[in-house]
Amino acid sequence: MRATMMKFPLTLAHILERAGKLFPGSEIVSRLPDKSLHRYRYAEFHRRARLLAAALARMGLKRGERVATLMWNHYAHLEAYFAIPCAGGVLHTLNLRLHPDDIAYIANHAGDRFLIVDDVLLPLYDKFRAAAKFEKVFVVPLTGAAVPSGFEDYERLAGRGRPRQIPRLREEDAAGMCYTSGTTGRPKGVVYSHRALVLHSLASALPDVMGMGNHDTVTPVVPMFHVNAWGIPFTAVMVGAKLAFPGPHLDAVNLLDLYQSEQVTLTAGVPTIWAGILQALENEPSRWQLKPGMRMVVGGAAAPEAMIRAFDRHHLRVLHGWGMTETTPVASVNYVKRELGGLAGEALYAQRAKQGVPLPFVEVRAMTPDGEAPWDGRTMGELEVRGPWIASSYHDLDAESDKWSEDGWFRTGDIVTIDVHGYIKITDRSKDLIKSGGEWISSVDLENALAGHPKVAEAAVIAVPHPKWDERPLAVVVLKPGQSATAEELREYLAPKFARYWLPDGFEFVPEIPRTSTGKMLKAKLREQFRNYKSRDG
Ligand code: ADP
Repeated sequence: MRATMMKFPLTLAHILERAGKLFPGSEIVSRLPDKSLHRYRYAEFHRRARLLAAALARMGLKRGERVATLMWNHYAHLEAYFAIPCAGGVLHTLNLRLHPDDIAYIANHAGDRFLIVDDVLLPLYDKFRAAAKFEKVFVVPLTGAAVPSGFEDYERLAGRGRPRQIPRLREEDAAGMCYTSGTTGRPKGVVYSHRALVLHSLASALPDVMGMGNHDTVTPVVPMFHVNAWGIPFTAVMVGAKLAFPGPHLDAVNLLDLYQSEQVTLTAGVPTIWAGILQALENEPSRWQLKPGMRMVVGGAAAPEAMIRAFDRHHLRVLHGWGMTETTPVASVNYVKRELGGLAGEALYAQRAKQGVPLPFVEVRAMTPDGEAPWDGRTMGELEVRGPWIASSYHDLDAESDKWSEDGWFRTGDIVTIDVHGYIKITDRSKDLIKSGGEWISSVDLENALAGHPKVAEAAVIAVPHPKWDERPLAVVVLKPGQSATAEELREYLAPKFARYWLPDGFEFVPEIPRTSTGKMLKAKLREQFRNYKSRDG
Protein backbone atom coordinates (compact mmCIF):
# COMPACT_ATOMS: atom_id res chain seq x y z
CA MET A 1 0.00 0.00 0.00
CA ARG A 2 1.22 3.50 -0.74
CA ALA A 3 0.86 6.27 1.82
CA THR A 4 -1.40 9.09 0.67
CA MET A 5 0.39 12.09 2.15
CA MET A 6 1.64 15.20 0.35
CA LYS A 7 5.31 15.69 -0.30
CA PHE A 8 5.94 18.94 1.51
CA PRO A 9 9.49 20.24 1.91
CA LEU A 10 10.69 21.13 5.41
CA THR A 11 12.32 24.52 4.78
CA LEU A 12 13.04 27.74 6.66
CA ALA A 13 10.92 29.58 4.05
CA HIS A 14 7.84 28.06 5.68
CA ILE A 15 8.93 29.28 9.13
CA LEU A 16 9.50 32.81 7.81
CA GLU A 17 6.21 33.02 5.93
CA ARG A 18 4.26 31.54 8.81
CA ALA A 19 5.80 34.07 11.21
CA GLY A 20 4.82 36.96 8.91
CA LYS A 21 1.22 35.74 8.58
CA LEU A 22 0.51 34.45 12.07
CA PHE A 23 2.63 36.49 14.44
CA PRO A 24 2.96 40.00 12.93
CA GLY A 25 2.53 41.55 16.39
CA SER A 26 5.24 39.61 18.23
CA GLU A 27 8.06 41.87 19.29
CA ILE A 28 11.80 41.78 18.63
CA VAL A 29 13.94 43.88 20.96
CA SER A 30 17.68 44.43 20.44
CA ARG A 31 20.22 46.22 22.58
CA LEU A 32 22.28 48.52 20.36
CA PRO A 33 25.93 49.45 20.88
CA ASP A 34 24.91 52.69 22.67
CA LYS A 35 22.83 50.50 25.05
CA SER A 36 19.49 51.88 23.81
CA LEU A 37 16.82 49.33 22.84
CA HIS A 38 15.72 48.94 19.21
CA ARG A 39 12.19 47.57 18.93
CA TYR A 40 10.10 46.35 16.04
CA ARG A 41 7.59 43.61 15.36
CA TYR A 42 7.58 40.42 13.33
CA ALA A 43 5.65 42.18 10.52
CA GLU A 44 8.65 44.45 9.96
CA PHE A 45 11.16 41.62 10.44
CA HIS A 46 9.32 39.55 7.84
CA ARG A 47 9.18 42.44 5.36
CA ARG A 48 12.89 43.25 5.74
CA ALA A 49 14.03 39.61 5.58
CA ARG A 50 12.11 39.23 2.31
CA LEU A 51 13.64 42.45 0.94
CA LEU A 52 17.12 41.25 1.89
CA ALA A 53 16.50 37.88 0.21
CA ALA A 54 15.35 39.65 -2.95
CA ALA A 55 18.36 41.98 -2.94
CA LEU A 56 20.78 39.06 -2.56
CA ALA A 57 19.10 37.32 -5.48
CA ARG A 58 19.39 40.49 -7.58
CA MET A 59 23.09 40.60 -6.81
CA GLY A 60 23.42 37.22 -8.39
CA LEU A 61 23.62 35.02 -5.28
CA LYS A 62 23.29 31.50 -6.63
CA ARG A 63 22.01 28.40 -4.92
CA GLY A 64 24.40 27.01 -2.35
CA GLU A 65 26.63 30.11 -2.31
CA ARG A 66 27.82 31.25 1.08
CA VAL A 67 27.09 34.61 2.69
CA ALA A 68 29.13 35.24 5.83
CA THR A 69 27.99 37.26 8.82
CA LEU A 70 30.24 38.96 11.38
CA MET A 71 27.63 40.23 13.81
CA TRP A 72 26.42 40.35 17.39
CA ASN A 73 22.98 39.07 18.41
CA HIS A 74 20.34 41.51 17.13
CA TYR A 75 17.46 42.06 14.69
CA ALA A 76 19.63 42.44 11.57
CA HIS A 77 21.40 39.17 12.28
CA LEU A 78 17.97 37.52 12.60
CA GLU A 79 17.02 38.99 9.20
CA ALA A 80 20.17 37.46 7.71
CA TYR A 81 19.39 34.13 9.40
CA PHE A 82 16.25 33.80 7.29
CA ALA A 83 16.97 35.92 4.21
CA ILE A 84 20.15 34.13 3.15
CA PRO A 85 18.73 30.57 3.21
CA CYS A 86 15.42 31.77 1.73
CA ALA A 87 17.36 33.29 -1.19
CA GLY A 88 18.83 29.81 -1.77
CA GLY A 89 22.14 30.76 -0.17
CA VAL A 90 24.00 29.42 2.85
CA LEU A 91 24.24 31.45 6.06
CA HIS A 92 27.81 31.23 7.36
CA THR A 93 28.18 32.81 10.80
CA LEU A 94 31.78 33.84 11.53
CA ASN A 95 33.03 33.71 15.12
CA LEU A 96 34.16 37.24 15.93
CA ARG A 97 36.13 36.09 18.98
CA LEU A 98 38.64 34.12 16.92
CA HIS A 99 42.04 35.40 15.94
CA PRO A 100 41.71 37.45 12.69
CA ASP A 101 43.97 34.95 10.85
CA ASP A 102 41.60 32.13 11.82
CA ILE A 103 38.55 34.09 10.69
CA ALA A 104 40.19 34.62 7.29
CA TYR A 105 41.14 30.93 7.07
CA ILE A 106 37.55 29.89 7.84
CA ALA A 107 35.96 32.38 5.40
CA ASN A 108 38.31 31.26 2.63
CA HIS A 109 37.89 27.58 3.41
CA ALA A 110 34.10 28.02 3.27
CA GLY A 111 34.39 30.00 0.00
CA ASP A 112 32.24 32.89 1.31
CA ARG A 113 31.13 35.24 -1.48
CA PHE A 114 29.59 38.14 0.47
CA LEU A 115 29.99 39.41 4.02
CA ILE A 116 27.50 41.24 6.23
CA VAL A 117 29.26 43.01 9.10
CA ASP A 118 28.18 45.25 12.02
CA ASP A 119 29.66 48.74 11.74
CA VAL A 120 31.10 48.34 15.26
CA LEU A 121 33.02 45.29 14.02
CA LEU A 122 34.70 47.03 11.08
CA PRO A 123 37.96 47.42 13.07
CA LEU A 124 38.02 43.63 13.41
CA TYR A 125 37.26 43.17 9.71
CA ASP A 126 40.16 45.50 8.89
CA LYS A 127 42.52 43.07 10.59
CA PHE A 128 41.77 40.26 8.15
CA ARG A 129 40.41 42.01 5.05
CA ALA A 130 43.67 41.59 3.15
CA ALA A 131 43.59 37.83 3.66
CA ALA A 132 39.88 37.28 2.89
CA LYS A 133 38.27 37.35 -0.56
CA PHE A 134 34.73 38.70 -0.24
CA GLU A 135 33.24 40.08 -3.43
CA LYS A 136 31.10 42.60 -1.56
CA VAL A 137 30.85 43.69 2.05
CA PHE A 138 27.57 45.04 3.49
CA VAL A 139 27.73 47.14 6.62
CA VAL A 140 24.89 47.27 9.17
CA PRO A 141 24.82 50.86 10.49
CA LEU A 142 23.94 49.92 14.08
CA THR A 143 25.38 53.16 15.45
CA GLY A 144 23.54 55.28 12.87
CA ALA A 145 26.85 56.58 11.46
CA ALA A 146 27.24 56.79 7.67
CA VAL A 147 28.60 53.66 6.03
CA PRO A 148 32.24 54.28 4.98
CA SER A 149 33.02 54.39 1.26
CA GLY A 150 34.05 51.14 -0.35
CA PHE A 151 31.27 49.27 1.50
CA GLU A 152 27.61 48.63 0.69
CA ASP A 153 24.93 49.90 3.04
CA TYR A 154 22.91 47.01 4.51
CA GLU A 155 19.92 49.33 4.92
CA ARG A 156 19.70 49.73 1.14
CA LEU A 157 19.18 45.98 0.88
CA ALA A 158 16.89 45.27 3.83
CA GLY A 159 15.23 48.66 4.08
CA ARG A 160 14.19 49.32 0.48
CA GLY A 161 13.14 47.75 -2.80
CA ARG A 162 10.57 45.14 -3.66
CA PRO A 163 10.31 41.62 -2.34
CA ARG A 164 10.32 38.71 -4.78
CA GLN A 165 8.81 35.30 -4.69
CA ILE A 166 10.99 33.03 -2.52
CA PRO A 167 12.50 30.44 -4.88
CA ARG A 168 11.37 26.85 -4.52
CA LEU A 169 13.69 25.25 -2.04
CA ARG A 170 14.32 21.58 -1.43
CA GLU A 171 14.56 20.35 2.11
CA GLU A 172 17.94 18.78 1.50
CA ASP A 173 19.39 22.09 0.23
CA ALA A 174 22.22 23.60 2.28
CA ALA A 175 20.89 26.44 4.49
CA GLY A 176 23.59 27.18 7.05
CA MET A 177 27.18 26.51 7.92
CA CYS A 178 29.20 26.69 11.14
CA TYR A 179 32.74 25.82 12.11
CA THR A 180 33.60 24.09 15.37
CA SER A 181 35.13 26.40 17.93
CA GLY A 182 38.45 24.59 17.68
CA THR A 183 38.89 23.54 21.31
CA THR A 184 40.75 20.41 20.27
CA GLY A 185 42.15 21.30 16.86
CA ARG A 186 41.70 23.34 13.67
CA PRO A 187 38.06 24.45 13.17
CA LYS A 188 36.02 22.08 11.00
CA GLY A 189 32.99 23.15 8.94
CA VAL A 190 29.54 21.59 9.16
CA VAL A 191 26.82 22.34 6.57
CA TYR A 192 23.20 22.20 7.78
CA SER A 193 20.26 21.39 5.49
CA HIS A 194 16.87 23.14 5.70
CA ARG A 195 15.42 19.83 6.82
CA ALA A 196 17.90 19.43 9.70
CA LEU A 197 17.26 22.99 10.95
CA VAL A 198 13.48 22.55 10.75
CA LEU A 199 13.45 19.20 12.55
CA HIS A 200 15.87 20.55 15.14
CA SER A 201 13.52 23.51 15.73
CA LEU A 202 10.49 21.25 16.15
CA ALA A 203 12.30 19.02 18.61
CA SER A 204 13.86 21.94 20.54
CA ALA A 205 10.43 23.47 21.17
CA LEU A 206 9.08 20.31 22.85
CA PRO A 207 8.06 20.70 26.50
CA ASP A 208 10.78 18.34 27.71
CA VAL A 209 13.48 20.05 25.68
CA MET A 210 13.35 23.88 25.82
CA GLY A 211 9.56 23.99 26.11
CA MET A 212 9.46 27.11 23.94
CA GLY A 213 6.10 28.62 23.03
CA ASN A 214 4.37 31.72 21.75
CA HIS A 215 4.12 33.18 25.26
CA ASP A 216 7.84 33.03 25.89
CA THR A 217 10.22 35.96 25.81
CA VAL A 218 13.53 34.54 24.70
CA THR A 219 17.07 35.90 25.10
CA PRO A 220 19.82 33.98 23.36
CA VAL A 221 23.01 35.06 25.12
CA VAL A 222 24.88 32.31 23.33
CA PRO A 223 26.23 34.13 20.28
CA MET A 224 24.47 33.70 16.95
CA PHE A 225 27.91 32.70 15.61
CA HIS A 226 28.13 29.78 18.05
CA VAL A 227 26.22 26.93 16.36
CA ASN A 228 23.29 29.17 15.34
CA ALA A 229 22.79 30.29 18.93
CA TRP A 230 21.80 26.66 19.50
CA GLY A 231 19.01 26.99 16.92
CA ILE A 232 17.05 29.30 19.23
CA PRO A 233 16.43 32.05 16.63
CA PHE A 234 14.82 29.49 14.29
CA THR A 235 12.78 27.85 17.05
CA ALA A 236 11.59 31.17 18.50
CA VAL A 237 10.42 32.48 15.10
CA MET A 238 8.67 29.16 14.41
CA VAL A 239 6.52 29.59 17.54
CA GLY A 240 6.22 33.39 17.31
CA ALA A 241 7.91 34.06 20.67
CA LYS A 242 9.07 37.53 21.64
CA LEU A 243 12.84 37.88 21.22
CA ALA A 244 15.09 40.12 23.32
CA PHE A 245 18.62 40.24 21.90
CA PRO A 246 21.54 41.48 24.04
CA GLY A 247 23.58 42.98 21.16
CA PRO A 248 27.24 43.40 22.13
CA HIS A 249 26.49 43.85 25.86
CA LEU A 250 27.05 40.47 27.46
CA ASP A 251 28.13 41.52 30.96
CA ALA A 252 25.99 40.36 33.89
CA VAL A 253 24.49 43.76 34.75
CA ASN A 254 23.34 44.50 31.19
CA LEU A 255 21.90 41.02 30.82
CA LEU A 256 20.05 41.25 34.14
CA ASP A 257 18.69 44.67 33.16
CA LEU A 258 17.39 43.17 29.91
CA TYR A 259 15.88 40.15 31.71
CA GLN A 260 14.10 42.56 34.01
CA SER A 261 12.88 45.14 31.49
CA GLU A 262 11.55 42.52 29.07
CA GLN A 263 10.51 39.96 31.74
CA VAL A 264 12.45 37.24 29.92
CA THR A 265 11.19 33.68 30.46
CA LEU A 266 13.84 31.66 28.60
CA THR A 267 17.52 32.37 28.04
CA ALA A 268 20.56 30.36 27.00
CA GLY A 269 24.33 30.51 27.29
CA VAL A 270 27.56 28.86 28.41
CA PRO A 271 28.43 28.31 32.11
CA THR A 272 30.89 31.24 32.30
CA ILE A 273 28.04 33.67 31.56
CA TRP A 274 25.92 32.18 34.35
CA ALA A 275 28.80 32.26 36.81
CA GLY A 276 28.93 36.05 36.27
CA ILE A 277 25.15 36.41 36.59
CA LEU A 278 25.15 34.40 39.79
CA GLN A 279 27.87 36.57 41.29
CA ALA A 280 25.89 39.73 40.45
CA LEU A 281 22.70 38.29 41.97
CA GLU A 282 24.51 37.26 45.13
CA ASN A 283 26.13 40.69 45.44
CA GLU A 284 22.85 42.57 45.04
CA PRO A 285 20.02 40.12 45.70
CA SER A 286 17.20 42.68 45.61
CA ARG A 287 18.34 44.82 42.67
CA TRP A 288 16.51 42.94 39.88
CA GLN A 289 12.90 41.74 39.69
CA LEU A 290 13.20 38.83 37.28
CA LYS A 291 10.38 36.67 36.03
CA PRO A 292 10.24 33.84 38.60
CA GLY A 293 10.97 30.46 37.06
CA MET A 294 12.97 31.91 34.13
CA ARG A 295 14.59 28.91 32.39
CA MET A 296 18.28 29.11 31.62
CA VAL A 297 19.56 26.66 29.04
CA VAL A 298 23.18 25.86 29.91
CA GLY A 299 25.44 24.02 27.49
CA GLY A 300 28.76 24.12 25.69
CA ALA A 301 30.52 22.98 28.87
CA ALA A 302 29.35 21.20 31.99
CA ALA A 303 26.98 23.04 34.35
CA PRO A 304 28.38 22.40 37.85
CA GLU A 305 25.89 21.01 40.34
CA ALA A 306 26.63 23.93 42.68
CA MET A 307 25.44 26.34 39.98
CA ILE A 308 22.13 24.52 39.46
CA ARG A 309 21.56 24.57 43.21
CA ALA A 310 22.43 28.26 43.54
CA PHE A 311 20.05 29.32 40.75
CA ASP A 312 17.25 27.32 42.35
CA ARG A 313 17.68 29.55 45.38
CA HIS A 314 17.01 32.55 43.11
CA HIS A 315 13.95 30.81 41.57
CA LEU A 316 15.73 30.45 38.24
CA ARG A 317 15.73 27.06 36.60
CA VAL A 318 18.81 25.62 34.89
CA LEU A 319 18.15 23.33 31.91
CA HIS A 320 21.34 21.46 31.24
CA GLY A 321 21.91 20.32 27.67
CA TRP A 322 24.63 18.81 25.53
CA GLY A 323 25.50 19.29 21.91
CA MET A 324 28.17 19.97 19.34
CA THR A 325 28.55 21.93 16.13
CA GLU A 326 28.19 18.53 14.41
CA THR A 327 24.81 17.94 16.11
CA THR A 328 23.15 21.26 15.05
CA PRO A 329 23.69 21.37 18.17
CA VAL A 330 21.04 20.20 20.66
CA ALA A 331 21.21 16.42 21.13
CA SER A 332 20.34 15.86 24.81
CA VAL A 333 18.62 17.89 27.51
CA ASN A 334 18.09 17.18 31.18
CA TYR A 335 14.61 17.00 32.65
CA VAL A 336 13.56 14.80 35.53
CA LYS A 337 11.58 11.93 34.09
CA ARG A 338 8.43 10.84 35.94
CA GLU A 339 10.01 7.49 36.80
CA LEU A 340 12.51 9.52 38.91
CA GLY A 341 9.74 11.42 40.69
CA GLY A 342 10.91 10.28 44.12
CA LEU A 343 14.40 11.77 43.80
CA ALA A 344 15.23 14.57 46.22
CA GLY A 345 18.17 16.42 47.76
CA GLU A 346 21.69 15.38 46.75
CA ALA A 347 20.50 12.61 44.46
CA LEU A 348 18.19 14.95 42.55
CA TYR A 349 20.95 17.52 41.96
CA ALA A 350 23.41 14.82 40.90
CA GLN A 351 20.83 13.70 38.34
CA ARG A 352 20.13 17.25 37.13
CA ALA A 353 23.84 17.90 36.62
CA LYS A 354 23.99 15.13 34.01
CA GLN A 355 23.73 16.14 30.35
CA GLY A 356 20.28 14.59 30.06
CA VAL A 357 18.43 12.24 27.78
CA PRO A 358 18.61 12.27 23.99
CA LEU A 359 15.98 14.20 22.01
CA PRO A 360 13.50 12.24 19.89
CA PHE A 361 15.25 10.96 16.75
CA VAL A 362 18.70 11.24 18.30
CA GLU A 363 20.15 7.82 19.09
CA VAL A 364 23.11 7.37 21.41
CA ARG A 365 25.53 4.67 22.46
CA ALA A 366 28.76 4.61 24.49
CA MET A 367 31.50 2.53 22.89
CA THR A 368 34.39 0.81 24.67
CA PRO A 369 37.18 -1.20 23.00
CA ASP A 370 35.04 -4.27 23.85
CA GLY A 371 31.83 -3.01 22.27
CA GLU A 372 28.83 -1.05 23.52
CA ALA A 373 28.95 -0.08 27.21
CA PRO A 374 25.97 -1.16 29.35
CA TRP A 375 23.63 1.61 30.51
CA ASP A 376 24.73 1.21 34.12
CA GLY A 377 25.84 4.75 34.99
CA ARG A 378 29.40 3.48 35.61
CA THR A 379 31.03 2.10 32.49
CA MET A 380 32.77 4.86 30.53
CA GLY A 381 32.81 4.85 26.75
CA GLU A 382 33.01 7.23 23.82
CA LEU A 383 29.63 8.74 23.01
CA GLU A 384 28.41 8.03 19.49
CA VAL A 385 25.26 9.59 18.03
CA ARG A 386 23.11 9.43 14.92
CA GLY A 387 19.96 11.18 13.75
CA PRO A 388 18.46 13.53 11.18
CA TRP A 389 20.36 16.61 12.46
CA ILE A 390 23.73 14.94 12.98
CA ALA A 391 26.45 15.72 10.41
CA SER A 392 27.51 12.93 8.07
CA SER A 393 30.82 14.60 7.07
CA TYR A 394 32.77 17.85 7.34
CA HIS A 395 32.90 20.45 4.60
CA ASP A 396 35.85 19.76 2.35
CA LEU A 397 37.89 17.79 4.88
CA ASP A 398 38.40 14.13 4.10
CA ALA A 399 41.15 13.70 6.69
CA GLU A 400 38.57 13.50 9.48
CA SER A 401 36.36 10.84 7.92
CA ASP A 402 37.33 8.37 10.67
CA LYS A 403 34.96 10.30 12.96
CA TRP A 404 32.16 8.27 11.40
CA SER A 405 31.88 4.56 12.12
CA GLU A 406 31.26 2.06 9.34
CA ASP A 407 27.68 1.58 10.50
CA GLY A 408 26.92 5.30 10.28
CA TRP A 409 27.42 6.66 13.82
CA PHE A 410 29.26 9.89 14.58
CA ARG A 411 32.09 9.55 17.13
CA THR A 412 31.83 12.61 19.37
CA GLY A 413 35.16 12.39 21.20
CA ASP A 414 33.26 12.81 24.48
CA ILE A 415 33.70 10.15 27.15
CA VAL A 416 30.45 9.37 28.95
CA THR A 417 28.50 7.03 31.13
CA ILE A 418 24.82 6.36 30.39
CA ASP A 419 22.62 5.35 33.32
CA VAL A 420 19.77 2.88 33.43
CA HIS A 421 17.28 5.73 32.79
CA GLY A 422 19.16 6.84 29.67
CA TYR A 423 20.82 9.94 31.17
CA ILE A 424 24.15 10.77 29.58
CA LYS A 425 26.93 12.05 31.82
CA ILE A 426 30.01 13.57 30.22
CA THR A 427 33.05 12.57 32.19
CA ASP A 428 35.59 14.10 29.81
CA ARG A 429 36.60 14.93 26.30
CA SER A 430 38.80 12.07 25.14
CA LYS A 431 41.76 14.44 24.80
CA ASP A 432 41.32 15.64 28.41
CA LEU A 433 40.93 12.24 30.07
CA ILE A 434 43.37 11.39 32.83
CA LYS A 435 44.70 7.85 32.63
CA SER A 436 46.29 6.90 35.94
CA GLY A 437 47.70 3.39 36.29
CA GLY A 438 45.38 2.15 33.55
CA GLU A 439 42.25 3.66 35.21
CA TRP A 440 40.30 6.60 33.85
CA ILE A 441 39.75 9.56 36.12
CA SER A 442 37.06 12.10 35.22
CA SER A 443 38.40 15.65 35.30
CA VAL A 444 34.85 17.00 35.00
CA ASP A 445 33.69 15.22 38.17
CA LEU A 446 36.62 16.63 40.14
CA GLU A 447 36.06 20.12 38.73
CA ASN A 448 32.38 20.07 39.62
CA ALA A 449 33.12 18.94 43.14
CA LEU A 450 35.75 21.66 43.60
CA ALA A 451 33.30 24.27 42.29
CA GLY A 452 31.09 23.33 45.25
CA HIS A 453 33.74 24.52 47.76
CA PRO A 454 32.69 27.89 49.19
CA LYS A 455 36.08 29.52 48.50
CA VAL A 456 36.49 28.24 44.93
CA ALA A 457 35.36 30.28 41.93
CA GLU A 458 36.35 27.63 39.39
CA ALA A 459 38.78 24.80 38.80
CA ALA A 460 40.32 22.89 35.91
CA VAL A 461 41.72 19.43 36.48
CA ILE A 462 44.37 18.27 34.01
CA ALA A 463 46.65 15.30 33.49
CA VAL A 464 50.33 15.77 34.31
CA PRO A 465 52.95 13.15 33.37
CA HIS A 466 53.98 10.75 36.14
CA PRO A 467 56.83 8.19 36.00
CA LYS A 468 54.91 5.41 37.73
CA TRP A 469 51.23 6.03 36.94
CA ASP A 470 51.70 7.57 33.45
CA GLU A 471 49.40 10.45 34.36
CA ARG A 472 48.09 11.99 37.55
CA PRO A 473 45.46 14.70 38.10
CA LEU A 474 46.51 18.24 38.96
CA ALA A 475 43.88 20.79 40.03
CA VAL A 476 44.33 24.35 38.80
CA VAL A 477 42.14 26.52 41.01
CA VAL A 478 40.81 30.09 40.89
CA LEU A 479 39.65 31.31 44.30
CA LYS A 480 36.77 33.73 44.84
CA PRO A 481 37.86 37.35 45.29
CA GLY A 482 39.47 37.98 48.68
CA GLN A 483 39.66 34.27 49.63
CA SER A 484 42.68 32.18 50.49
CA ALA A 485 42.89 28.40 50.78
CA THR A 486 45.51 25.67 51.12
CA ALA A 487 46.01 22.57 49.03
CA GLU A 488 45.43 20.46 52.16
CA GLU A 489 42.07 22.08 52.77
CA LEU A 490 40.86 21.35 49.23
CA ARG A 491 42.19 17.81 49.34
CA GLU A 492 40.31 17.14 52.56
CA TYR A 493 37.16 18.57 51.01
CA LEU A 494 37.37 16.16 48.08
CA ALA A 495 38.50 13.10 50.08
CA PRO A 496 35.06 11.83 51.21
CA LYS A 497 33.65 12.22 47.69
CA PHE A 498 36.17 10.19 45.64
CA ALA A 499 38.31 7.06 45.60
CA ARG A 500 41.79 7.85 46.93
CA TYR A 501 43.57 7.46 43.62
CA TRP A 502 41.25 10.09 42.07
CA LEU A 503 42.42 12.84 44.44
CA PRO A 504 44.64 15.38 42.64
CA ASP A 505 48.34 15.17 43.45
CA GLY A 506 48.57 18.93 43.56
CA PHE A 507 46.53 22.13 43.75
CA GLU A 508 47.90 25.17 41.95
CA PHE A 509 46.28 28.56 42.52
CA VAL A 510 46.03 30.88 39.49
CA PRO A 511 44.23 34.20 38.86
CA GLU A 512 42.26 32.85 35.87
CA ILE A 513 41.77 29.81 33.64
CA PRO A 514 42.53 30.36 29.93
CA ARG A 515 39.45 29.95 27.75
CA THR A 516 38.49 29.47 24.11
CA SER A 517 36.41 31.90 22.10
CA THR A 518 33.25 30.07 23.19
CA GLY A 519 34.07 29.99 26.89
CA LYS A 520 35.52 26.49 27.21
CA MET A 521 38.55 25.87 29.40
CA LEU A 522 41.68 25.66 27.26
CA LYS A 523 43.14 22.60 28.93
CA ALA A 524 45.75 22.10 26.21
CA LYS A 525 47.28 25.41 27.28
CA LEU A 526 47.24 24.44 30.97
CA ARG A 527 48.81 21.06 30.20
CA GLU A 528 51.58 22.91 28.38
CA GLN A 529 52.02 25.32 31.29
CA PHE A 530 52.27 22.51 33.88
CA ARG A 531 54.12 20.03 31.67
CA ASN A 532 57.03 19.80 34.09
CA TYR A 533 54.93 19.62 37.24
CA LYS A 534 56.41 17.17 39.74
CA SER A 535 54.03 15.26 42.01
CA ARG A 536 54.98 14.97 45.66
CA ASP A 537 55.66 11.24 45.32
CA GLY A 538 56.94 11.53 41.74
P1 ADP B 1 34.61 22.48 19.98
O1 ADP B 1 34.50 21.01 19.63
O2 ADP B 1 35.66 23.17 19.20
O3 ADP B 1 34.68 22.75 21.47
P2 ADP B 1 31.75 22.80 19.94
O4 ADP B 1 31.19 24.11 20.33
O5 ADP B 1 31.08 22.07 18.85
O6 ADP B 1 33.23 23.09 19.52
O7 ADP B 1 31.84 21.93 21.25
C1 ADP B 1 31.22 20.70 21.48
C2 ADP B 1 31.79 20.09 22.73
O8 ADP B 1 31.49 20.88 23.88
C3 ADP B 1 31.22 18.74 23.07
O9 ADP B 1 31.85 17.72 22.33
C4 ADP B 1 31.52 18.63 24.56
O10 ADP B 1 32.86 18.21 24.81
C5 ADP B 1 31.39 20.06 25.04
N1 ADP B 1 30.06 20.24 25.67
C6 ADP B 1 28.95 20.74 25.14
N2 ADP B 1 27.93 20.78 26.02
C7 ADP B 1 28.42 20.25 27.18
C8 ADP B 1 27.87 20.00 28.48
N3 ADP B 1 26.61 20.31 28.80
N4 ADP B 1 28.68 19.44 29.39
C9 ADP B 1 29.97 19.12 29.11
N5 ADP B 1 30.53 19.35 27.91
C10 ADP B 1 29.78 19.91 26.95
